[in-house]
Amino acid sequence: MCGIVGYIGNREAYPIIINGLKRLEYRGYDSAGFVLNYPENFELVKTKGKVSELEEKAKASKLTANVGMGHTRWATHGEPNDCNSHPHMSNNGELVLVHNGIIENYESIKIKLKELGFTFQSDTDTEVLVNLVQYFQDKENANLCDAVRYALNEVVGAFAIAVMNNRNTDEIVVARLGSPLAIGIGEDEYFIASDASPFVEFTKDAIYLEDGEMACIRRGEKIDVRTIISNETVAPSVQELQFDLEQIEKGGYDHFMLKEIYEQPKSIHDTMRGRLLTDEGIIRMAGIWDHQERFNSAKRIIIVACGTSWHAGLVGEYLIEELARIPVEVEYASEFRYRNPIIKKNDIVIAISQSGETADTLAALKLAKEQGAFIYGICNVVGSSIARITDAGSYTHAGPEIGVASTKAFTAQLTILSLIALKLGKHNGNLSKARYHELCLELENIPKLVEETLKTNDAVVEIAKKFKDAENFLYLGRGYNFPTALEGALKLKEISYIHAEGYPAAEMKHGPIALIDENMPVVVIATKKGHYDKVVSNIQEIKSRKGKIIAIVTRGDSQVRELADYCIEIPDTAEEFTPIVASIPLQLLSYHIAVMRGANVDQPRNLAKSVTVE
Ligand code: GLU
Repeated sequence: MCGIVGYIGNREAYPIIINGLKRLEYRGYDSAGFVLNYPENFELVKTKGKVSELEEKAKASKLTANVGMGHTRWATHGEPNDCNSHPHMSNNGELVLVHNGIIENYESIKIKLKELGFTFQSDTDTEVLVNLVQYFQDKENANLCDAVRYALNEVVGAFAIAVMNNRNTDEIVVARLGSPLAIGIGEDEYFIASDASPFVEFTKDAIYLEDGEMACIRRGEKIDVRTIISNETVAPSVQELQFDLEQIEKGGYDHFMLKEIYEQPKSIHDTMRGRLLTDEGIIRMAGIWDHQERFNSAKRIIIVACGTSWHAGLVGEYLIEELARIPVEVEYASEFRYRNPIIKKNDIVIAISQSGETADTLAALKLAKEQGAFIYGICNVVGSSIARITDAGSYTHAGPEIGVASTKAFTAQLTILSLIALKLGKHNGNLSKARYHELCLELENIPKLVEETLKTNDAVVEIAKKFKDAENFLYLGRGYNFPTALEGALKLKEISYIHAEGYPAAEMKHGPIALIDENMPVVVIATKKGHYDKVVSNIQEIKSRKGKIIAIVTRGDSQVRELADYCIEIPDTAEEFTPIVASIPLQLLSYHIAVMRGANVDQPRNLAKSVTVE
């Protein structure tokens, strides 16, 4: 899941690389490194740890080249130490390579290369690849582009790579299969990065390499894109970037996560903008409108996703089944793709992924496509792999999400799923005109309600102070808010490292109730609409066992207030949209607890944002 950045042009490469790595650090932060290409010699610096540590170490180096590349790593092969850090160098010292992905057959290649006399310093798959390129360069007397192509035709796996040769300071070769790679095109200069954030202030023109493509980037020349397998020239399509620098900076907040939590009134509004037209009584979504027949004849919708997006998918199941009466199954993409699922031609498979690069989700979609299903994508990153392979889809328009723990992308996904359910329900006649209209008005009001809900922050801080040292948490909810409970628990565990479980409230008595004692905080989503009385009974059960109850209630609630130790009030809305509003205090709770425990909120340990490995 690493981040790659590179530059070739007339500016100094180092500041572009180091700042680019900082922006890409959300993708992995086990180690970082860079290499600058001077005539006949490389300046290569790498270290275990963060980009800031790399910056410190780099102070002793010559940093004046105008070609170079860098890497921030999320280790897959070999522990995070200096030696396993990228860039990796070939045995002859002439080639350097940075890599995002996994070379699955690296072991067998390594054995063969060892037989030929190659030696290896690291435990990585990447070092095998750079030596394989050297092998082909020597054997075929090939130029860098051809040697890279020969090598890539031998490997199985996923990669985005950038390679340089110290015999030529005017060239970087890049390639991708399964991991993203963007090339920014400036005047007489090129930028390379895993996403466009490292170069957005320099150029708005970018090429996103397609899977199976490579590019030879040479100073002063037009970019040369070709297919890896057949070496055919490809005419790349240049896209205009749709975000600017301000959107990817912290803007006065202590962490990206907090900034992104507070951006939600806007991001939800942006997700609906131009789509939810309440005055005209319509929802405009080209992805559905253009394929209305497919949706009308769909016997089943399968949602595939991972992590937080999977939780959004579960809410989507409740929404679509309730409002449009189409059966929905929600699958972990990683399970779906490997269990020979039954997919029929009139199934619709919806993939949800913030980055649009999630490896398992992408593979699940490819499988569904091969088997004839109509595939639809819900992604945040424009031009991402999922967005490109799907038959149709909707962008969430939440803006760049940098914090590793997803917040605004989640509520934007819920917004899109609400729009889809309403649109389908209206169209297939399962939703009365009156109810449709009522729900559209409620949805339109959600950004305002989220704004109000953010004012619970001070109350949440007090609760966080009380429970920051807890070792476990339970999260309970029913109906639409069962997935909200799952997401609340995930948020807490991923950034504070407190063990947390989400459960449907009624399931508690089938096991988790055994855990409840006076030390167990239990967060219960107990909003007025939707099984309220049942949830109240569950709260009674917790209280009888002395559990500490933190309840998310509808404003004005008195019944739960009497039972709960702490209450957070949120504004009333339609039951269908309560997950969007109820998620806000849960995000804030996990954020504050994590900060109080001294955890790195934006870059939690062992995680990375864009999960491009399976
Ligand atoms: N497989 C490479 C390594 O472990 C790259 C990892 C990645 O892309 O996350 O160093």
